[in-house]
Amino acid sequence: MRNGMLSVIAPAMNEQDNISRLCEAIKNVMEGAGIPYELIVVDDGSRDATWQILCEEAKKDSRVRGISFSRNFGKESAIFAGLSEAKGDCAAIIDSDLQFPPETLCAMYEKWQTGDFEIVEGRKNARQKETLTYKLFSKTFYKLLKAMSGIDLDNMCDFKLMDRCIVDDLNALPEKQTFFRALSDWPGYRKTTVPFDVADRSSGTSKFTPVKLVKLALGAISSFSAAPLQLVTGCGVGSFILSALLCIFTLCFPFAEHGNELFCWAVAILLALSGILMVAMGVIGYYMARIYEEVKARPRWIVGRRTDR
Ligand code: UDP
Ligand code: MG
Repeated sequence: MRNGMLSVIAPAMNEQDNISRLCEAIKNVMEGAGIPYELIVVDDGSRDATWQILCEEAKKDSRVRGISFSRNFGKESAIFAGLSEAKGDCAAIIDSDLQFPPETLCAMYEKWQTGDFEIVEGRKNARQKETLTYKLFSKTFYKLLKAMSGIDLDNMCDFKLMDRCIVDDLNALPEKQTFFRALSDWPGYRKTTVPFDVADRSSGTSKFTPVKLVKLALGAISSFSAAPLQLVTGCGVGSFILSALLCIFTLCFPFAEHGNELFCWAVAILLALSGILMVAMGVIGYYMARIYEEVKARPRWIVGRRTDR
């Protein structure tokens, strides 16, 4: 039987109306279940009163700690900054808008306590209320990711509890561009899931714009799969075969009879090929840009303020 402190990590960007509710909810649930805990809220460059409220909460309760980024670095950075601050024997990620029910943390903790699992993931019973475009987008993304990298993330989210060993493994990763949902799976170990119902956002609106979501999706696919690069090779081979066929066709049929028709075909194929080439170069360029980002080795976040200093 394991026992120990749980570090609850909550990324927060412009969540002024949710911070106090979050602290209160976590406190009630943890004290109710008798789980020793710390709550680390990572303020991801909020422009509202999130930080001021967080400071007050930290003053009231020494188990609450906060760090604040110098600007918005994104949820991924906030999660990893929280992990690097965690002192617990296990750590869990939770959204600060209370969409992930804090009570589920107890079920996760209990599973961790059995000593049979190092990672306990929250699995959404049903997807939250989403627009049709969002649903279509996320389904396509998960299908693509599964086809290209074999990682199945449908109905999974960032709501998970990890043993100290996984936290240490993740903290030791040198890569700068991360996708937590899949990376937390990468070290391996024994895994189980806990089902939960996604609640409505406690207050405010989603902080993920369509552009942020597309960036996250592209980043996830490219960090777990080189399939798009192989696709480029496939397109090259395909167009080579096509042009060979066209050569044979042109040789077999006299030019005088089919001159005009062939010219149209030639132009069409030329356009298609140049299109493929440009897309291919774009894909290679995208991977190169990612390599460039890694080589620059800039920090993933900068901490501007802390509640404990
Ligand atoms: N978040 C963040 N940085 C960002 C975007 C979001 O820290 O750049 C936080 C946000 O405050 C929330 C969590 O990540 O606690 C999930 O974001 P949100 O609820 O907006 O996403 P959704 O639930 O719509 O997927
Ligand atoms: Mg949310």
